[in-house]
Amino acid sequence: MPKAPPATAAPLPPEIAELEANPFAAVNHYFDQGAQAAGIEPDYRTLMKTPYREMRVEVPVRMDDGRLEVWIGYRIQHNGARGPYKGGVRFHPSADLDEIRALASIMTWKTAVVDIPFGGSKGGIQVDPKPMSENELKQMTRRYTQHISAILGVYLDIAAPDMNTNAQIMAWMMDAYGQMHGYTPGIVTGKPLELGGSPGREPATAQGLAYVLQAAAPELDFKLEGARVAIQGFGNVGSWAARILHRMGCKIVAVSDVQGGIHDGDGMDIPMLLKHYNQNRTMAGFPGCDPLEPGELLTLDCDILIPAAIGGVIDAEVAGRIKAPVVVEAANHPVTPGGDVVLERRGVIVLPDLLVNAGGVIVSYFEWVQNIQEFRWTLARVNEELERFITDAWRQVRLTSEQERLTLRIAAYMIGISRVMEATRLRGYV
Ligand code: NAD
Repeated sequence: MPKAPPATAAPLPPEIAELEANPFAAVNHYFDQGAQAAGIEPDYRTLMKTPYREMRVEVPVRMDDGRLEVWIGYRIQHNGARGPYKGGVRFHPSADLDEIRALASIMTWKTAVVDIPFGGSKGGIQVDPKPMSENELKQMTRRYTQHISAILGVYLDIAAPDMNTNAQIMAWMMDAYGQMHGYTPGIVTGKPLELGGSPGREPATAQGLAYVLQAAAPELDFKLEGARVAIQGFGNVGSWAARILHRMGCKIVAVSDVQGGIHDGDGMDIPMLLKHYNQNRTMAGFPGCDPLEPGELLTLDCDILIPAAIGGVIDAEVAGRIKAPVVVEAANHPVTPGGDVVLERRGVIVLPDLLVNAGGVIVSYFEWVQNIQEFRWTLARVNEELERFITDAWRQVRLTSEQERLTLRIAAYMIGISRVMEATRLRGYV
């Protein structure tokens, strides 16, 4: 396994240093490079960077103890040139306007890179849902759904799970929407199977990541068998990535969540860890492992680093200390523009979010298709189609990166932007 070359002390260009704190500006910085490579005219660049519609709503909830809490929620539809808006819903204290704008725009480019007929959107509530009871969470989800329902629709905007949301939340969203509009399973994806969910949707993001790794490893000259993998985040994406990569013969040497993490240089027994985690709601105390402080995982000695939690965790300083020669962006925008410059200078391979974590939205597309057709696919069919879509996208990104001499990230942006531009032109939009 190659080692990541040492960091250089060269300072960052000042215009990049300024982008570190704003996720939307950071995504647009990548957009500008992709648009430049795609030869997009300046007027169209402004059009394509500007979100089409932004909705901000109050979300009042009567808490179990009688208090009234009012949170702020958003639904942002970034670009619909290629199809209905599609994007997850995040409940997180950092889910502010710029974070949701960034995530919505990432969805526009991601759905285009993997060539599924959707645009990009995202939603969320700026709240920490962890201390909330099930009843409070349900009230909040239903009220949020009612307030944004005017801009949702099976052919308009389709929601899905993201951080701190899951199949149960999607079921509540579907029901709240259905109370106003009648039975409409296609309004959300990532639903429980019993309500029209798709086989394979829950592991889909991690499964897609695994397919990309299988295709990329021989071409980029790194090994998966026995590779030491560290994963930040142990929710839907991180825990499924641990399970699937462990099954594929990787050694999962470290995992972490918001509370901290654990490390075992020999590799962990992931089925046993999942049992421990589900029983105790913490990874602390898992036998044979050393504890890790939050953040420590990113700079551990390993072969493959998978950030699978929040955005912006790999800035220039962290990027200078990363030891992994391969970074796989399971999370959305985990690397800041400064971090990206440092990783590129150091020759670290970065498999970008637009491609690597697209498995979730690809299988969401299959779920939507099944809902519209009222026909259920088998798991084997879902995974076969997922592999085809995401491996094709990998080949195109790799080819474009070679032909145009671009990083994999900017090659992915270039492909996504070119497809959205072509749809805009064909529609005669402006
Ligand atoms: P999740 O809520 O299921 O899990 C998030 C995990 O990250 C939890 O284990 C949490 O404890 C951990 N975490 C949060 N803050 C952390 C921190 N500061 N340090 C370490 N760990 C931290 O969310 P998820 O659905 O697994 O999403 C994770 C990431 O993957 C997000 O960036 C999301 O946008 C992206 N993503 C998710 C999907 C999907 O299908 N769920 C698809 C594409 C991309």
